[in-house]
Amino acid sequence: MSDVIIVGGGFAGNFLAYKLADKGISVKVFEEHRTIGYPSHCSGLVSRKGLSRLGILQEILSRGMVLSAHRCLRIRAYNKSRIIQLSGDELFVIDRPSLDRLLFEKAVNRGAEYYLGEKVSAIEKDGCIKIRTKHYRSKIVVDAEGAAKKLARGFVSRLTETIPALQIDVSARSNKKTDGIIDIYFNTPDFFSWIIPIGDNVFRLGVASRWINDKYKFLSDLAKVKLGSFKVINIFGGLVNTGGPLDKFVFGKVALVGDAAGQTKPTTAGGIVWSGISACLLAKVIELNISGYVNMSAYERLWEKLFGSHVLLMSMIRKILYLGNPQTKLNFLLSLLPSVITVSFDYDFQFDLIQKLTMYSRKNH
Ligand SMILES: Cc1cc2nc3c(=O)[nH]c(=O)nc-3n(C[C@H](O)[C@H](O)[C@H](O)COP(=O)(O)OP(=O)(O)OC[C@H]3O[C@@H](n4cnc5c(N)ncnc54)[C@H](O)[C@@H]3O)c2cc1C
Repeated sequence: MSDVIIVGGGFAGNFLAYKLADKGISVKVFEEHRTIGYPSHCSGLVSRKGLSRLGILQEILSRGMVLSAHRCLRIRAYNKSRIIQLSGDELFVIDRPSLDRLLFEKAVNRGAEYYLGEKVSAIEKDGCIKIRTKHYRSKIVVDAEGAAKKLARGFVSRLTETIPALQIDVSARSNKKTDGIIDIYFNTPDFFSWIIPIGDNVFRLGVASRWINDKYKFLSDLAKVKLGSFKVINIFGGLVNTGGPLDKFVFGKVALVGDAAGQTKPTTAGGIVWSGISACLLAKVIELNISGYVNMSAYERLWEKLFGSHVLLMSMIRKILYLGNPQTKLNFLLSLLPSVITVSFDYDFQFDLIQKLTMYSRKNH
């Protein structure tokens, strides 16, 4: 029997496997797909500071996993737009399948065992998982199955909101000058859409919305308007977790991490850095729990201490913006800001961004 079984070899599962194996804890990972990193669903947008926090920045840079680097976001509402220039940090689009494979290699090199092409059909609170007719048992089972939370339904009473998203990578046929600006369109019903320049005349377009049924048409129309004639290179997507974290992450001998636990930013649904930090916390708590020092619920307490205030504020902002008539509200809020704002803020913990934008709007009026 291994100390820990992890269900799901995505970012959170691989990061946790690496951290646990690094501590000498025996770990088995069950992943339903045969290849780690595929199919990919993620844009891969992550801050330099965030990667540094996770201790993987240098490896990502040295392995050439950064597709593009950005210092400017253009926030668009109905008929207004404002540019936010980041000072002191930058945003990278990283090759997400390569990132997952990097963590997988690190975990395997430290002794983690992987079972690929193995779909788990049930997780029991007593630390048992089921694959076809076989049962596997461990001291702790971690559910890292991602945003769909299909297995978690067996033991979690209140699941959090998710929104379906689609992305297309396109190459524009004519030369497009972008200055590396990432465009975020809040005039999209339900959540938002985006265009990220990721290479010479190559763009990643995406939309997350429950209200737009034909997302491919939506993105093609957006590409036509913004880029002119284009060729689609790749189509991918998945569920984004927008409802914040679950009320609890620990159920008997089962703990949840990553999108399965709802550990994403309520404002953008980005979860790479939050999942990584959460996996680090969980690895520490598992180490102490196995040695008999702490109860697994310490994971929930530590998480709340680190993320609680950020979740509260970001969720509040999302609710205020998206209730009633979001376009009018966003237009009004953007009108309070100058057309270009240069601001140093923490992309992963956005408490200070909200504070700084409020200061700007007060100065402006
Ligand atoms: C369209 C889109 C764009 C995004 N863009 C960004 C972004 O730019 N920046 C950012 O920070 N975040 C982004 N995210 C969110 C980010 O991708 C997630 O937060 C992150 O992948 C969470 O990792 P995870 O390991 O929890 O889940 P996942 O990466 O989804 O991994 C879950 C794994 O579990 C496996 N699995 C599921 N069920 C089973 C089962 N029954 N048995 C065995 N294996 C199973 C899956 O195959 C998968 O490999 C985006 C998400 C989407 C959908």
